[in-house]
Amino acid sequence: MARIKKGDTVVVLSGKDRGKSGKVLAVFPARDRALVERINLVTHFERRSQQHQAGGVVQREGAVALSKLALTCPKCRRPSRLGWVVSAQGTKQRVCRRCQNPL
Ligand SMILES: [Zn+2]
Repeated sequence: MARIKKGDTVVVLSGKDRGKSGKVLAVFPARDRALVERINLVTHFERRSQQHQAGGVVQREGAVALSKLALTCPKCRRPSRLGWVVSAQGTKQRVCRRCQNPL
């Protein structure tokens, strides 16, 4: 099960964007990668089209390996490790191991 979900705030642990944080835009569990807002920007050359009237060079997010990302807990506002709590119904809930709050 993927630890990081769309909408989470994460911190980058390594690479050129180390130390930066951003919101997760999309997760690709099969590839163990995610797109994070303003992280790992790559230069893209866009052809002129309906969506891109001007065309030319565009900055765009590139996929980042999940192992390079640490989830930031919205409650204690620090990068945290995750734990799981299994409910009576058998569903899993992510919890922050620092403050024990559900995520
Ligand atoms: Zn926390």
